[in-house]
Amino acid sequence: MPKQLQGRNIIVTGAGNATGIGAGLANGLAERGANVTVADINEEAARKTAGDIAAKHGVKTIAVKVDVVNRAEVQAMIKRTVDAFGQLDAMFNNAGIIEHATFLEMTEKSWRKLMDVNGMGVMIGIQEAAKQMIAQGKGGKIINTSSIASKQSYPAFAHYCASKWAVAALSQAAARQFAEHKINVNCMGPGVVKTTMWDQLDREFIDKGLTKEPDQAITEFSVGIPLGRYSIPRDIVGIAAFLASPDSDYMTGQNILCDGGMVMM
Ligand code: NAD
Repeated sequence: MPKQLQGRNIIVTGAGNATGIGAGLANGLAERGANVTVADINEEAARKTAGDIAAKHGVKTIAVKVDVVNRAEVQAMIKRTVDAFGQLDAMFNNAGIIEHATFLEMTEKSWRKLMDVNGMGVMIGIQEAAKQMIAQGKGGKIINTSSIASKQSYPAFAHYCASKWAVAALSQAAARQFAEHKINVNCMGPGVVKTTMWDQLDREFIDKGLTKEPDQAITEFSVGIPLGRYSIPRDIVGIAAFLASPDSDYMTGQNILCDGGMVMM
């Protein structure tokens, strides 16, 4: 594996859950030589994932407990990263949550919860990473996990879609704002990825009587994906590594989907 990220110091939020996209990214980035901060609201999971990555790839890792909606915790996460590795080169604002709700089922409470974590969490993450990168004076990469739901909206997840359109909007504005500091801000958007997020959705579909069996919801949602299957976290690593590397230095404000061709635009 070419070490295109050798010596780069990278934070990935939402990286605790071993089967999640964040842990997949953290592993893939470490495989390419990066030191990684594994950040998650679940501290125990973050520790386990960070330990596994260090043992497997021989890079430096730290585990940090962070709630991405808590600015003080995000600031502390960045400080701990800089203390441990020397500087921050790339930040993946990846933590996110979902909930099934038809348009008429959506409530103010669920709207606020999703917009807080998926929208405001990314806002705070971009701001705090940018402040650190500006202070360092060497540019940097900020990569936000969007979704196919940032390009098309689905009736079972309108609040989730709105939060992912917010991620794309924040990324564009930040890209323009921080370009003079050579900070690139881009999004990468997965399609359907088999993680605990979809396990949760599958349960919600069953609880509402919309499906009958485990994995039925993800299977039905994946019908017609041009590349013939739903994805796994590893499928997203290539675009993530590219966006964190100097190869993407002339790219900013983009929202690239890596979704097997589900959405083409
Ligand atoms: P997941 O549920 O498997 O993992 C999410 C991780 O984020 C967990 O480890 C969780 O503990 C952590 N987390 C949740 N709230 C947090 C908070 N407030 N602060 C810090 N950490 C928090 O989900 P996933 O499928 O790996 O999703 C990761 C990202 O990818 C999310 O932004 C999601 O919206 C996006 N995404 C997922 C899919 C998919 O099909 N799974 C598709 C498109 C986009």
